[in-house]
Amino acid sequence: MISIAIDGPAGAGKSTISRLAAKKLGYIYVDTGALYRAVGLKFSLLGYDASLDCDISAILSETSVDIRFVNGEQRVFLDGEDVSDNIRTPAASMMASAVSARREVREFLLEMQRRLARENNVVMDGRDIGTVVLPGASVKIYLTASAEERAGRRWRELAEKGEKITLKEVYDDIVKRDYNDMHRDIAPLKKAEDAVLADTTECTLEESVELVLKIVGERTGEN
Ligand code: C5P
Repeated sequence: MISIAIDGPAGAGKSTISRLAAKKLGYIYVDTGALYRAVGLKFSLLGYDASLDCDISAILSETSVDIRFVNGEQRVFLDGEDVSDNIRTPAASMMASAVSARREVREFLLEMQRRLARENNVVMDGRDIGTVVLPGASVKIYLTASAEERAGRRWRELAEKGEKITLKEVYDDIVKRDYNDMHRDIAPLKKAEDAVLADTTECTLEESVELVLKIVGERTGEN
């Protein structure tokens, strides 16, 4: 099986670029951020905030998170319910970042991610795919862009969906989330030594997808 690991900070375009690259390659696209978002939602629904002042393991033992592919698109299920659309708010992003710093949560989600890559050719995106989840991935890419550019892209996305949020709020969220993700003790966001750095600050979406496909092609002979 071929696995393409794509890591990088929030708003680098990982999910859009990975989805399009996977389609082109005929692989499945796995958005691992959605798994952390679903776990975050569970804790929010139970009334906990980002301090997670609770018995995390006990709650996880009564939680199911599951990915299913509907017409080739990933949907994420929390306790049997499709929550794919409820996990995209800024509040859900922050809660995902909070739960993702907890060892119990990372262990809870690890095997599912590895199994997907054992059973399918995948493009998998996240923060620790090349470093922890799939250290033996066929190709590793660290996708990034300047924080200003990432905030601008994310803000336009949210504005199109009708979210009332300012560019400054999105920028501050991104900087804070990057800081959390890079400085946590467990599986922090960092470039794997053998990952190729792809900076898309100056690239259009099409150019970014081309860049990823070029890197994949050079390393696997596929394109
Ligand atoms: O990629 P996305 O923005 O949806 O991820 C939400 C949050 O989930 C990230 O800020 C990060 O804290 C966490 N995450 C992670 N490891 C991954 C994917 C996401 O810690 N592999």
